Amino acid sequence: MTEALLELQNLVVLRHTDPTGFFGLWGARPVRALDGVSLTLRRGETLGIMGGAGGGKTTLAEAATLRRAPDRGRILFEGRDVTSIRGGEKDKLQRRLQMIRQDARESLEMDQPVGKQFRDRMKQYGLNDPDSRIRRALEQVELGAEFADRTPLQMSGGQQQRVAIARALALNPIMVAADEPVSGVDPHLQRDMLTMLERVQKQQNLTYLLISQERKTIARLAHRVAVLDSGRLYETGLAEKVLTEAKHPYSRLFLGLEPGEIPFEEDRVGKVISGCPFAGTCPAVTARCRTEMPAAREVGAGHQVACHAI
Ligand code: SF4
Repeated sequence: MTEALLELQNLVVLRHTDPTGFFGLWGARPVRALDGVSLTLRRGETLGIMGGAGGGKTTLAEAATLRRAPDRGRILFEGRDVTSIRGGEKDKLQRRLQMIRQDARESLEMDQPVGKQFRDRMKQYGLNDPDSRIRRALEQVELGAEFADRTPLQMSGGQQQRVAIARALALNPIMVAADEPVSGVDPHLQRDMLTMLERVQKQQNLTYLLISQERKTIARLAHRVAVLDSGRLYETGLAEKVLTEAKHPYSRLFLGLEPGEIPFEEDRVGKVISGCPFAGTCPAVTARCRTEMPAAREVGAGHQVACHAI
């Protein structure tokens, strides 16, 4: 599990806030949804991405699967720069880099039979033998072949989420970015779905970018964990280390390793562009933190932290 599949190098993704003022012409400004994020995904591993809502996790997944072009930085796939690929070449790679959205309804046509939706996508990518691919993908998520004839509206929330996963698997991906894949599922079904995701990963040597705010989901599947907030990567390391011995003050609060709460601030991404984005809350803040962005540095084997105090 050491071969680099995907490398994100110093990615910056800008987002334009809603303009305000006369005719909406004033007030628009670019904020950094991702602000200099560098990460490596190794073939066959699960990299868990944790952090508060609105902190850039979904944007990261979109950039990693070529669904959102970065404004700066590079994306390497198997060592090759794919940041600016276009057309058929991009389609081909996008098929191998799938994304499962948090809400299955964002991926599925709710009133269309699942089989038809799958077939249309396979046609778009020029894949042959759609029926056996559909059957296999539904089997992988533990749904019978009869689900191909049903619409998502005729299914439970858990079944819809399994279909959304099958939709990604049917395209034979090499990497899947899964955004809170079990958060909308009944708690008693979550364990089964995590077992299923783990089994599929082993069968296909899949790489997962697993976004979750749920510690137990990350602890169950992730080999490594990255903590992201305000578009900045605060900490990266082996899952067992980060989940129990995180060093960054944000990680420690977020993971409940220190008492206290992180105040919820809607759409805080990019609000601080100089200094540490956590300076407003951090109990260890110093004057330096307010003016100088901390760079990530190695604090142990494969363990990196971006904090002036560490
Ligand atoms: S850099 Fe400063 S403000 Fe940011 S987490 Fe570290 S100590 Fe806190």
